[in-house]
Amino acid sequence: MASTALTGIGLLVTHDAEYAELHDAALVIDDGLIAWVGPAAQVPDADAASDLDGRCVIPGFVDSHTHLVFAGDRSAEFEARMAGQPYTAGGIRSTVVATRAASDQQLTAHAGALLAEMLAAGTTTTEIKTGYGLSTVDEQRSAQAAHRLSDEVTFLGAHVVPAEYAERPDEYVDLVTGPMLAACAPYCRWIDVFCDAGAFDADQARTVLQAGRAAGLGLRVHANQLGPGPGVQLAVELDAASADHCTHLSDADVEALAGSRTVATLLPAADFSTRSPYPDARRLLDAGVSVALATDCNPGTAYTSSMPFCIALAVREMRMTPAEAVWAGTAGGARALRRDDIGVIKVGARADLVALDAPTPVHLAYRPGVPLIAATWKEGQPLTV
Ligand SMILES: [Zn+2]
Repeated sequence: MASTALTGIGLLVTHDAEYAELHDAALVIDDGLIAWVGPAAQVPDADAASDLDGRCVIPGFVDSHTHLVFAGDRSAEFEARMAGQPYTAGGIRSTVVATRAASDQQLTAHAGALLAEMLAAGTTTTEIKTGYGLSTVDEQRSAQAAHRLSDEVTFLGAHVVPAEYAERPDEYVDLVTGPMLAACAPYCRWIDVFCDAGAFDADQARTVLQAGRAAGLGLRVHANQLGPGPGVQLAVELDAASADHCTHLSDADVEALAGSRTVATLLPAADFSTRSPYPDARRLLDAGVSVALATDCNPGTAYTSSMPFCIALAVREMRMTPAEAVWAGTAGGARALRRDDIGVIKVGARADLVALDAPTPVHLAYRPGVPLIAATWKEGQPLTV
């Protein structure tokens, strides 16, 4: 495969120790990987060259929390919520009905369309969860659809208890940890559980996570979104890669996260779309917790695919600096997926890159809602918007 030099980079933000930020930079892509990074004046020969005309280049966004496999739309629920009705976890069940009725092809095509939307907005890695099938066959179909589109697939059979198990939730946990897990694990890297009021309690969540670990999956937890609860402590106790949402945290929760490898993944688009309080990112960062930002893209509570939107919210509403928010949406997401080959621009990393129509990444928050993504490279392949 031919090598390509990207020259004329006005500002390169790498998240790597060697060149954290480099003005007048260049880099070389070879075989889908970064082969060289440095000052423009020293760029080595390559088979082809592309001049970025002073644009800023950052790592491609890593969206480490999405629910892309679903059918239907919940705009009426959103409209009602904006008129004052509260969000409850039970709203998920209406998407379950639509998802079960959709064909495999419809599920894959719909998720693929959202993934294309994300790539155009600069997202080069997307974690995709199941969780709207909630039967063995429909969770397996969802996992297969996600697996066609991403290597980062998460089994979320424990999203909510489906209507037909409403009176016997422990039987549903047996199903999730038994036949459903066995059917889905071959297509998944991770297992997740919604540990919150109206979903699963600490004992049920622990049972689900331990079964997933026994099946070879890494752990993630939907934790402390709707109120204070045991989710974050459980995530830390089990060395989960990520505790997601983290809106309602005690001092002990923050301390536990700070002393762990568990990333706090914040999902401000969900708080935006449910008109809920935002998590206190400043408190987490000041305590030394690793923070990631992700979209939570789903039809109920956060129907956006845009990482720049989440970065803008994080800066305006959660008091993250622009640099912290961009790190959280790239390197932070990679850490939440326990990856060191993405979210960073360094020799040997995947050539997943974004060029901005802006001189600095501050513009992602400074110019909210403006399409600033000039070009995206995924594994070295350019997509020009
Ligand atoms: Zn979620």
